[in-house]
Amino acid sequence: SPATVSVLGLGLMGRALAHALLRAGHRVTVWNRTPSKADALVADGALLAPSAGDALRSADLTILCLTDDEAVRSLLGQDGVDLRGTTLVNLTSGSSAQARETARWAERRGARYLDGAIMAVPPAIGTADAVILHSGPRTAFEEHSPTLAALGTATYLGEDPGLASLYDAAGLTMMWSVLNAWLHGTAMLRTAGVDAASFAPFAQQIAVGVAGWLPGYAEQVDGGSFPAEVSALETDARAMSHLLDESEALGVSTELPRLFKALADRAVAAGHGSEQYPVLIEEFGRPTP
Ligand code: NDP
Repeated sequence: SPATVSVLGLGLMGRALAHALLRAGHRVTVWNRTPSKADALVADGALLAPSAGDALRSADLTILCLTDDEAVRSLLGQDGVDLRGTTLVNLTSGSSAQARETARWAERRGARYLDGAIMAVPPAIGTADAVILHSGPRTAFEEHSPTLAALGTATYLGEDPGLASLYDAAGLTMMWSVLNAWLHGTAMLRTAGVDAASFAPFAQQIAVGVAGWLPGYAEQVDGGSFPAEVSALETDARAMSHLLDESEALGVSTELPRLFKALADRAVAAGHGSEQYPVLIEEFGRPTP
């Protein structure tokens, strides 16, 4: 049966969330600091609440989508905002520490709190392509997952409210690493007149191939043992020197090869040269020297 859902924060993302909930047939109450941003939603059947407190009171579930965590705390901390008995799903971006702190803060005030991270842009909201990560009490997620499914692919990660933000950050480092490596390779090939479109299929093949190594390498990381089954780190480190020299000779950026080599050299210096690449987890798992 349709739920009553409130959406607080009607920026680009909040409006997309509220529209998707309306399309799925839910009763939607909205509130925004600048009320005019609710006009199109009201025309589509949403109810505009006169205050954030009113919006919270009328809902089974309240979705928050504001600029940052500070905005969330200042809004929900106002007089007249009663969190007792409400379930909050905070889709505002922030750090894992903020998520844990806001969870404790909201729970002390009587709310159930799920944190979330949206791995999509507003036009994808309401489609399966919009992956939305959630963490916090499993019972709260299970109770509301039929409603949350209207927003995209609702994924539950665990009880620790910081997990959604952590997975979000871990996903971003994957994304930028792959894109930066592709752009560096493209810059190298362009010096020989090869265009990006010609390299892209080859690059894609490499990315997919490497992705296939991850489950096996994860076993090494989790097991804390890194036997060189296919190649030793010192072999990789030598190839990194070639990559650095080639980049320098071509007159393209050397930042990525320098980074690769700095990490590998440290691990080799620490005696890990004969082990396999994932032994670098030890370098990634501590602060930069
Ligand atoms: P917008 O800048 O479009 O919207 C920000 C919203 O926050 C507005 O509704 C604004 O109200 C409200 N707000 C800010 N400060 C306060 C405050 N002190 N009190 C009350 N309301 C406040 O941002 P988006 O909608 O794009 O993003 C919202 C969240 O979603 C962010 O955390 C963002 O990182 C995340 N997100 C966005 C994505 C995107 O592609 N847009 C992708 C993934 C996550 P007002 O209208 O009155 O200014």
